[in-house]
Amino acid sequence: MSEPEHVLVIGAGLGGLRTVQGLRRSGFTGRISLVGAEEPPAYDRPPLSKQYLAGEWDRERIGLVADDEFDGLGVRTHFGRSAVALRPGGDTHEVELDDGSTLHADAIVLAVGVAPRRLSGQPDSAHLLRTVEDSTALRGTFDGASSLLVVGAGFIGAEVASTAVARGLRVTVLEADAVPMARVLGSRVGALAGRLISDGGADLRCGVSVSALTGSGATLSDGSTVDADAILVGVGARLDLDWLTTTGLDLAGGIPCDERGRVEGLAGVWAVGDAAAWTDPRYGDRPRHEHWTSATDQAAAVAADIAGAQPPPESVPYFWSDQFGLKIQLIGRPELADGLLALHGEGFDDGGDTGGEIKGTTIGYLRGDELVAVVGFGAARRIARYRKPLADRADRDTVLEFRDSLT
Ligand SMILES: Cc1cc2nc3c(=O)[nH]c(=O)nc-3n(C[C@H](O)[C@H](O)[C@H](O)COP(=O)(O)OP(=O)(O)OC[C@H]3O[C@@H](n4cnc5c(N)ncnc54)[C@H](O)[C@@H]3O)c2cc1C
Repeated sequence: MSEPEHVLVIGAGLGGLRTVQGLRRSGFTGRISLVGAEEPPAYDRPPLSKQYLAGEWDRERIGLVADDEFDGLGVRTHFGRSAVALRPGGDTHEVELDDGSTLHADAIVLAVGVAPRRLSGQPDSAHLLRTVEDSTALRGTFDGASSLLVVGAGFIGAEVASTAVARGLRVTVLEADAVPMARVLGSRVGALAGRLISDGGADLRCGVSVSALTGSGATLSDGSTVDADAILVGVGARLDLDWLTTTGLDLAGGIPCDERGRVEGLAGVWAVGDAAAWTDPRYGDRPRHEHWTSATDQAAAVAADIAGAQPPPESVPYFWSDQFGLKIQLIGRPELADGLLALHGEGFDDGGDTGGEIKGTTIGYLRGDELVAVVGFGAARRIARYRKPLADRADRDTVLEFRDSLT
């Protein structure tokens, strides 16, 4: 494939910015345009539920790229504009923006992220959290509030609960499943994550669903009510890809890509980040990761692919979450697992949550005999060591030998 003349990156968040930086770093000298629905400067999202929400970091500190570096990238920007249609062509594709203008490029990178899911009938006063404006608004609400209701005990809900408890708010967390984060961690490890929330000072109520949200709290499916000065709805994210229907792609599971991020069936189009479903060459499926490092790693790989540069080494999916004084870190693909292996620490054994100290607890996920993921609770140094057995697809005995070599 010869180097394209014009790369058009759609979405100016983490994946989009890192793609632009990666293109220049890979020696791409052609034209680059960047379309972003949000106003600049581009910012990083993880602090929005942590340091920025807590008021510890300001807007400047969460910037994704310094102004002078951005100026040096030589990018034509269209900020505050959304792409509303992609019309594939032979050598050149056409993208329409929401002001009716059109852009043409022979390489397109879709880096459009996801949108927060709302509850039906959700009042305007209930907060969602995806953008810096959302976080600023929630932070402002904290100032005059003494209580917070968090609907959904996923990672973002738990992080906001943690930040609010630290600010002195009385926090109730409602979760429809039997334990928090079950979809990602599985039910037994999710129970441990639930204990972290409860021990951390929030009132966690699982197995309850909300039948109505009001300006002053919620009515639950069992008829009881929860009063709160502020509400955060953290019930996950949804794909926002209707504007791509003109491509004819099946977008139900995300933008379908091969293992290099090339969109299946659309030559000259790549996708990165939360909206992209890349083929995993190790397992042959096409997962979608809403992880900071996946967006970064995919951007580097796509930039190299477009520029014809050496591809970066293959990476293992990685996610972290900071809550209640601990960093939860997850490497690999826990959703593939059918078994667990207690590795280190006091919080978990083969019977599940022990009630012991959570910090330092490290758990392996097995598919059959093969290690497919490792999660650690406040176990950063250990977790890093497990990258190699994961990359090697180590079997149970090898993992146990490895574990013993660490203790
Ligand atoms: C509150 C919060 C906390 C998080 N904490 C963590 C964490 O601790 N650890 C972790 O691993 N991950 C975390 N994440 C996830 C991480 O931030 C995302 O995985 C990452 O931002 C994905 O990058 P992206 O480029 O795919 O999407 P985004 O960063 O969302 O960027 C997409 C951009 O595209 C724009 N866009 C969308 N559609 C269009 C269009 N049609 N035209 C033009 N522009 C468009 C959007 O407005 C947005 O600016 C967190 C996310 C949030 C919201």
